[in-house]
Formats: sequence, structure tokens, C-alpha cells
Amino acid sequence: MTHGFDTLQIHAGARPDPATGARQTPIYQTTAYVFRDADHAAALFNLQEVGYIYSRLTNPTVAVLQERIATLEGGAGAVCCSSGHAAQIMALFPIMAPGRNVVVSTRLYGGSITQFSQTITRFGWSAKFVDTDDLDAVKAAIDDDTRAVFCESIANPGGYVSDIPALAKIADAAGLPLIVDNTSATPYLCNPIAMGATLVVHSMTKYLTGNGTVTGGVVVDSGNFDWSASDKFPSLSEPEPAYHGLKFHETFGPLAFTFHGIAIGLRDLGMTLNPQAAHYTLMGIETLSLRMERHCTNAQTVAEWLEGHDAVAKVTYAGLASSPYFDRAKELFPKGTGGLFTIALKGGYDACVKFVESLEIFSHVANLGDTRSLVIHPASTTHRQLSEDQQVAAGAGPDVVRISIGIEDVKDLIADLEQAFEKASA
Ligand SMILES: *Cc1c(COP(=O)(O)O)cnc(C)c1O
Repeated sequence: MTHGFDTLQIHAGARPDPATGARQTPIYQTTAYVFRDADHAAALFNLQEVGYIYSRLTNPTVAVLQERIATLEGGAGAVCCSSGHAAQIMALFPIMAPGRNVVVSTRLYGGSITQFSQTITRFGWSAKFVDTDDLDAVKAAIDDDTRAVFCESIANPGGYVSDIPALAKIADAAGLPLIVDNTSATPYLCNPIAMGATLVVHSMTKYLTGNGTVTGGVVVDSGNFDWSASDKFPSLSEPEPAYHGLKFHETFGPLAFTFHGIAIGLRDLGMTLNPQAAHYTLMGIETLSLRMERHCTNAQTVAEWLEGHDAVAKVTYAGLASSPYFDRAKELFPKGTGGLFTIALKGGYDACVKFVESLEIFSHVANLGDTRSLVIHPASTTHRQLSEDQQVAAGAGPDVVRISIGIEDVKDLIADLEQAFEKASA
């Protein structure tokens, strides 16, 4: 029996606790698990039997969350980790090596641009940034050392909508996985795997948890990619020296990437999600569809109001007919385009700073996807590390304010924005 999204967001992966009958998933606050005997311990360490050894690798509360997200995304398996940025490293780790590159969209979360342009070079990896709307440029950027293509479904913060089916086709023709950061859209609005993506990553910190309480990330594997079709992915297709010569793809088939993520990634990189954080995220996901519907309708109302306002030069919401992504968004995201967008203010940098400081309901924070409405001026904060060219390319120029619309009463949000515009122009 296949269940609908609203049922799965509450039930997938969970069952009454076998020890106590507890209906809600318990927080298994434990580091280690008692082995039945020495043979049981050996079988677990050899991956001949699946079970719990040590919470850096696996934990029953985290396992419920992994199964729930894998189900909602339509994947074969998922590995949770300590943040969205950890998830991005965990997604690349099994497929990259020194000298290899990943082709990435110029339109990414500011922190991801820094991670890909600076930090991964310490591992001998590199990123080639391309405008992913230019499909020929994407094809041209792929070379013999490329190991993946990476984009965001709805790019933070500019409201760009990636043509996931077209990018998946290009990656597929080159024998490469497409990795999609689905943070801003969530599996409620977008299923990248159904559009041909191989891997999906999330910052669970945002809409999945939904109320600004914890950081977390996840890598979901479609299970559809043939890691053995070429010699490009030896860590998955060849004997893995960091796991006594185990061949992950041959042994685990569609779960190869997930098992590698636990047995090598979490074991040796240690970017583990703790069970308390998993609990908060499980609580958030139970109401994901309800929150996303309200985020979308509130954002649509506020974006339309802002577009008609004198102080505003531009609104980038993909749900507006004026957006160049309006048609693509309607086709790929029929349920809505999320709660995140940017506005450009006619008054430039100074007006942005005054506007942000004058808001009362909206909080000025470096976060998004909260039940609360949030606002930030990227050029003076999250995108500060970038050059002005990089800021503009990422949709975060000096005159741009990013808005994350919450689920409050929309008339109160509009009144707050109006009083802040008045103060900013006084
Ligand atoms: C926040 C965010 C990240 C990073 O996630 P953290 O949980 O903060 O590490 C990555 N991608 C997108 C789109 C984000 O919004």
C-alpha cells in the first residue's frame, strides 16, 4: 500500500518502541549498544549483519529520521549528519579524490560558494562554477576529472529555479551523478530524484526542522546510479582499502552509497547527528506539508504586495508572473515555490540596513525556513566573504534583502514591512 505525503511525514520509518510500546519515537540517548556475544560483535563490524555498534555510526532515533527522509524523497537510503554543510562534504567524499572537480551552479547559498571555492581545495578537490541556465556551458565545463554536477532546486537566496530534468540528462550522458540541494523546496514541494537526480542533500536546520532549534543535514541516495559502469568511482566500485577491501557497490547494490556514508564517512569524518537533534527534526517533519502550504501562500501574498511598493525595485519570487522562472516553477513545483525570496530596494545598501533594523516581527538573523519570519541583508552578512561580482552572481548584491516568510498572520507581516519602509525613508 502506498501512502500519501501527509501520512508518510508522520509514520515513515517509525513503529511503536519494541521495548516499551512508546508511540512517539524515543530519544535513544546512548553512545554504545551491548553485543549479544563475540560472534554478534564480529558480524556487526564486518557489516555482515546490520545493527547498532556506536552512535558515531548509527543510533535508533537517527535511523528513524533517515528512513523517514529517504521515504519522503523517494530514495533508497539516507545518512544524517551534523549540518547541511557536513552533508555536502559527505555527499562528495565517496566520489571525489585529489585532482577531481565538481561542476556547480553559481547560484548557491553563500556558505556553499565559500565551501566549494575555498575549503574543498584543501582536499585537492575543486569546483567549476557555471550558470546552470546555460546548458551548453554546463556540458562544456564537464571534463575527464569531473565527478558530479551540483545545484540547488530553488536557489537560496535569489529564487532561481533549476531545470533539474535538463541538468540530470546532461549529468547522465556524462556518466555522472547530479546532486541537488533541496533545502529551500523540501520534499513536499520538490522530489529531485523523480526528476533524475542521483543524490539529494538538505540542511535540515531550515524547513525540515522548521522552527530554528537545531542544525542538521542529510544525504539521500536514489539508489539508481551504476557506480561500477566506469572506473570513475573506485571508492564505491573497487575494493575499499579503508574497509578491508570490501567492494561497496557489488556487496550492497542500491544501498552502496548509504553504507559507504555510514561505514566510512561517519566512521572517519565523524560529522554525526546526535539523537536529540534527530528528535527535534522528526517533530518538525510531522507538520512539514502544513507549514510549507502556509509558507507558500504567505510568501505569494507578501511578494505580490512588495512588487507594488514604491520603495521596492525588484522582487525575485518565482511565484510572480514577472519572474523569468515563473513557467518553470509552475511545471516543476506545482504545489508552490516556497517561502524564500529577495527584494532589491531603490535606496541601495543604506536603505537595506535601515529597513532591516526597523522591522519588529521579522527577526534579523542568519537563518531561514523558520516558523517565524526572518530577514537578512546578505551583502553585509552571509555573503560578506564574496567579491561584489560573486554577490551579484549569487543574487545577493548590495541592494538586496533576503526574506524568509514565516507562518504568522500575513496582514501582520505586511503591516510590519510597511512601517519599516516608512522608517527607512524618513
Ligand atoms: C543553510 C543552508 C546550507 C548549510 O546548512 P547548515 O545546516 O547551515 O550547515 C546549505 N544549503 C542551503 C540551501 C542552505 O540554506
